[in-house]
Amino acid sequence: METIIQENIQSEIDRTFLVHKRQSILNRTQSIKERKALLEKLLAWIKNNQGDIRKAIHADFKKPYLEIDLSEIFVVTSEIKHALKNIDKWIKPQKVSTPLPMLGTKSHVQYEPKGTSLIIAPWNYPFNLAIGPLVSAIAAGCTAIIKPSELTPHTSALLRRLVAETFDKSQVALFEGEVEVAQLLLDKPFDHIFFTGSPAVGKIIMKAAAENLSSVTLELGGKSPAIIDFNSDLKDAAAKIIWGKFVNCGQTCIAPDYVLVHHSVKEAFLTALKNELEKMYDPSGKGIEKSKDYARIVNGKHLKRLKNLLADAELKGAEKYFGGYVDEEEMFFEPTVLTELSEDMDIMQEEIFGPLLPVLSFGDLEEAIQYINMKPKPLALYMFSNDDDNIKRVFQETSSGGAVANDCVLHFLQNELPFGGVNNSGIGKAHGHFGFLAFSNQKAVMHQRVGLTASKPLYPPYGFAGKKI
Ligand code: NAD
Repeated sequence: METIIQENIQSEIDRTFLVHKRQSILNRTQSIKERKALLEKLLAWIKNNQGDIRKAIHADFKKPYLEIDLSEIFVVTSEIKHALKNIDKWIKPQKVSTPLPMLGTKSHVQYEPKGTSLIIAPWNYPFNLAIGPLVSAIAAGCTAIIKPSELTPHTSALLRRLVAETFDKSQVALFEGEVEVAQLLLDKPFDHIFFTGSPAVGKIIMKAAAENLSSVTLELGGKSPAIIDFNSDLKDAAAKIIWGKFVNCGQTCIAPDYVLVHHSVKEAFLTALKNELEKMYDPSGKGIEKSKDYARIVNGKHLKRLKNLLADAELKGAEKYFGGYVDEEEMFFEPTVLTELSEDMDIMQEEIFGPLLPVLSFGDLEEAIQYINMKPKPLALYMFSNDDDNIKRVFQETSSGGAVANDCVLHFLQNELPFGGVNNSGIGKAHGHFGFLAFSNQKAVMHQRVGLTASKPLYPPYGFAGKKI
């Protein structure tokens, strides 16, 4: 039975890929008006189905409606509006100047759609991370096949409906399913693969892409640090870190993974963290598990993974400053802050991707910088300080996909900035113009005048003024 289903999917993938291949050639002459019409249609569908989007994501992991509105719906609609406003500018051929030896020629960069694209999405922002890249693909004129995550089935079904009701199959298609479906898709020679997920699977995607020399954008994860300088506003920093860490129950790629706090303010910072956490998630004092503003862990496998991280850390000497309560039936994992950490703990080696926050201390900034530089390059780095020189120093002496001073996570919403990682945390950039470029081939175009060539002196027979050299 399973083999028959597999064969059906295989032939459906083969057929769809062929259709997309043909369409992608037609798309080379697709007008901006047509691309805008597709984006307008997508925007209208989202506006008309906001309630269903909320319900689907909430059914998957009890994500609060307000978080859905901000981090799934608003992020995507603002990406669409940004593309609609800027697409004429992005697509315009860019004239370049002519150097002296090229005199007589004219050159420009032409933005052509790469062609067929594959978008593989994760579960943690299941709507945003499937549709956000689609906006860039459409703006650039690519066809797209989307593979949503199997771990968020309600959102996956909703995305299937969105695609069916909004697009012609020849432009945008969607295949639901487990990892096997992703593997079947990866066998196809896509022109571009846009993957969001873990560094481990990112390596698998890159290997598969190499077989066809497909270009890739890899939006991965990792351990994003937050530094608290001795002179920072601790209450302000604590509130921002509590929000950035515990929004979506810690299941955010750019959540602060761990905190490095100056030793002189460690105790005061921990107290501030506790106060801000209670204010946000337990204002009535009835327990955070009663809060409707706190999401759940996506499934039992991840709950177990997080429990193991906590158990391993405690076994090796970590102390719970607060939190640690787990209700397996409810998939509830209390926001938990840990101190007394060491490098032999799994929690200090793996991306946490859940509501566990290790707080480590440092003596001087050099130590914090060195600590970060010894680990793989993070997706984001957050620096809380009142000293601009210290902020500048940290941003200059460390490498990360993004860097934010005195806040966290917010840079995702700034669509004028490139979003992405570096090496272990990602390859390539997304959002706005950078997303458009990811799905575009920047073609070098030169026009020469008939009968004129700058390279004539270079033609054989080689020599100078008739003399052989
Ligand atoms: P994942 O890598 O397990 O899965 C992502 C997608 O890849 C899913 O659609 C899944 O079906 C598919 N997949 C899994 N194994 C595969 C395989 N062997 N071959 C082909 N496809 C495969 O990631 P996840 O658990 O869904 O998401 C969490 C990870 O994603 C974290 O590491 C997080 O940091 C990262 N992430 C990054 C960003 C970003 O923008 N950089 C955003 C969100 C999440």
